[in-house]
Amino acid sequence: MGRYTGPSCKLCRREGMKLFLKGDRCYMAKCAIEQGRQSPGMHGHRRSKTSDYGMQLREKQRLRRMYGLQESQFRLFFERASRKSGKTGEILLQMLEMRLDNICYRLGFSSSRKSARQFVNHGHVLINGRKSTIASRVLKAGDVIEVVNRPASREYVKPFMDAAESRGVAPWVLLDKANAKGEILHVPSREEIQPLVNEQLIVELYSK
Ligand code: SF4
Repeated sequence: MGRYTGPSCKLCRREGMKLFLKGDRCYMAKCAIEQGRQSPGMHGHRRSKTSDYGMQLREKQRLRRMYGLQESQFRLFFERASRKSGKTGEILLQMLEMRLDNICYRLGFSSSRKSARQFVNHGHVLINGRKSTIASRVLKAGDVIEVVNRPASREYVKPFMDAAESRGVAPWVLLDKANAKGEILHVPSREEIQPLVNEQLIVELYSK
């Protein structure tokens, strides 16, 4: 299946929760979820009893859409997580959080994960002083992420860093706004990760 190019808010309405796909708008009253808009489609308001499989599938779709991954990419992350020792669901969330595009989003280099991915792809980011254009790269504690020292790139991130700072930057990253730079202090614990999903249902889905 190809990349989804339709309206972002429709995905949130389908999942019945905020997936934070549109930057600043997600924090405003204009947000479709804040306005209580129903699921898309003619029968969007209908509620039927959901099977176990249906609940597992929905949970997976929520997480996958939140991070903007295609099914194959998401599955690959799950398989990598399942090969590590520990709770697979928790490791999956940690790996998704440690992706370069997500870290750029958390530091406020972009307004959404989607635009963070573009920002990385276009070569605006350095990892430990070296250019990196791989948005899916999983970083580690101690890595330093920096916006390249070009006036246009630094200017671009300023308003997003201000907005991120006013909302509160994640406790496991350190933002140096003056130098458009950030450091990963530690791998986030489950409690420090925002997604409001039940990751155990995703593990059950893929374990069938
Ligand atoms: Fe989702 Fe953001 Fe649209 Fe709200 S504004 S429905 S959170 S994409």
